[in-house]
Amino acid sequence: MGLARDIDLALHLPLRYEDETRVTRLGDARHGDTVQVEGVVTDSQITLRPRRQLVVTLDDGTDTVHLRFFSFYPAHQKTLAVGQRVRARGELRGGFLGREMVHPSFRAVDEHTPLATSLTPVYPTSASLPQAYLRKAVASGLARAWLDEILPAEVLPAGLPPLQQALQFLHHPPPATSVLTLEDRTHPAWQRLKFEELLAQQLSQLQAQRERARLRAPPLPLERGGLHERLLAALPFQLTGAQRRVVEEIAHDLQRPQPMHRLLQGDVGSGKTVVAALAAAIAIGAGWQCALMAPTEILAEQHFRKLVGWLEPLGIVTAWLTGSQKGKARRESMAQVADGQAQLVVGTHAVIQDQVEFARLGLAIIDEQHRFGVAQRLALRSKMKPSAGEEPHLLMMSATPIPRTLAMTYYADLDVSTIDELPPGRTPIVTKVFADTRREAVIERIRHEVAQGRQVYWVCPLIEESEKLDLQNATATHQQLGEALPGHMVGLLHGRMPAAEKAAVMSLFAGGQMAVLVATTVIEVGVDVPNASLMVIEHAERFGLSQLHQLRGRVGRGAVASVCVLLYTTPLSDTGKARLKAMAETHDGFEIARRDLEIRGPGEFLGARQSGAPLLRFANLEEDIGLVRHARRAAALMLEHHVGAAQAHVQRWLGGKAEYLKA
Ligand code: ADP
Ligand code: MG
Repeated sequence: MGLARDIDLALHLPLRYEDETRVTRLGDARHGDTVQVEGVVTDSQITLRPRRQLVVTLDDGTDTVHLRFFSFYPAHQKTLAVGQRVRARGELRGGFLGREMVHPSFRAVDEHTPLATSLTPVYPTSASLPQAYLRKAVASGLARAWLDEILPAEVLPAGLPPLQQALQFLHHPPPATSVLTLEDRTHPAWQRLKFEELLAQQLSQLQAQRERARLRAPPLPLERGGLHERLLAALPFQLTGAQRRVVEEIAHDLQRPQPMHRLLQGDVGSGKTVVAALAAAIAIGAGWQCALMAPTEILAEQHFRKLVGWLEPLGIVTAWLTGSQKGKARRESMAQVADGQAQLVVGTHAVIQDQVEFARLGLAIIDEQHRFGVAQRLALRSKMKPSAGEEPHLLMMSATPIPRTLAMTYYADLDVSTIDELPPGRTPIVTKVFADTRREAVIERIRHEVAQGRQVYWVCPLIEESEKLDLQNATATHQQLGEALPGHMVGLLHGRMPAAEKAAVMSLFAGGQMAVLVATTVIEVGVDVPNASLMVIEHAERFGLSQLHQLRGRVGRGAVASVCVLLYTTPLSDTGKARLKAMAETHDGFEIARRDLEIRGPGEFLGARQSGAPLLRFANLEEDIGLVRHARRAAALMLEHHVGAAQAHVQRWLGGKAEYLKA
């Protein structure tokens, strides 16, 4: 369970508590109460109906209760034999033959056995680790752990107990404690733990930021009349105000001799690609190479085509690198990158990251950065050093905006630019939620769209357990739509197609010859076909919220009024319902991200599943925003005036995991 150090055990806090500090008289207890009772066994027998069970009758002088056990061992029978004195704890229910407890916990006692002096903790555990064992381990870890106060008084929020005291309290609360304030985590002891955790996390972020400030990167100055200005002049459209602003922010970073570490976030369709192109132009104009990485080949190729279209006319040499590229073509691309001839390199991240040597890499751009794990980002930064002691500038792009609270905490080390304005002339997308029994009506709608020369996406879900089923589903839909739309080209795109075939299908759709594209989620990110006006998502309830938002963003990219149809299958889970509701109610990527955080927790945003990065265990970014703010101020103060204490605190809380938080 990752509980390696004494401090890890001490910080393993109870999920809930059981009250074994008092004995309730049966005569005073009510049905539905969870109580501890003590009495003498007056009857004990195994009955066979309705199923085999041990039924024990306990009498405490005020009333009797039946204890029922469906699984039991001879040792249990011995403890529960007639005449034995027993303490049992469980929920009291009204049964057929009088009051009963099903599978209570119990133990043999005598008249003098003392009661517990504090509430009994129940810890989160795994199936194979008995609660009793874990209780002992935690208690001894807590006793051994070094818990002296590290934090100077001036950084602590008022009214919170010292760590040692808070932990002692949370593991073994005294009998009179309000279980409610423990369970909803508002008790000062909980507040102290949350603050400690947030502070550790803020400190490590701030340290990472300061370390970065010591790194060197090649300054990439803006030249008057340079490549960047020539690209601007050649673009078929004017930048939006928001695009202009973020380009300025990026240009400002690139001029500095420290590596940029900037996230460019903007809703789907907000026009991030052209911003990337302008950043590339600045780097190339200054005499350096630029790499643009995308998570999938389709997306990489689309970027490539777009950027080539913009930059090659200006005399820029570009290279294309992906996994499916073979033989001579690949060797040539690699050589061009290595000798510095290729100024812009576009490809999938795996290839660029693992196999390519750059002559002079000045800027690395990562599209859809949330799809990359933390570990991958770390690897990237360590691999792509343009020269000893220097790092490239890094621009990450994402359409999944980071909620403000996360930006303040986990991404505190990241500068963020936001495109908060869509290019002009877009019509808003109408979202409709239908049960899949309305499939025929949806197909009718498709007929209507394609008759007007518009294009349609139909997305089939990824069925986790079976890629095969997944494919079957997409293939069947492909066939059905083909039959329903004679005279129109209906294509199929899925993850297991060879890259060349994928590219061929994509280019038919992008070129407008193909009317309908049936796809598994490979089209999820970044595909740009402005003539597409209808997006149908089948089994929408199975998709994550930000994924749905991404998919919806594939339409509404031109001036045509667009519709997104979310088809669902009943019964809907609560999360499924919440997601569809959110989709129907809002188009704002930030609001979607906020609700996603509510529904799923922060793990997804951090790419943490791949990395094992420690997430917040105790604090909740939304509920504890006041503590988050306090921790931010405290962290800055500590790095200024209490450096030793800051180190000790991070070590105590994060141990060796601190590295991960810097990615
Ligand atoms: P995303 O932010 O989702 O990556 P893209 O960069 O793919 O968005 O841009 C979406 C579409 O909008 C593209 O067709 C792009 O050429 C177009 N576009 C971008 N900026 C502008 C602008 N300022 N005016 C008009 N169209 C624009
Ligand atoms: Mg994009």
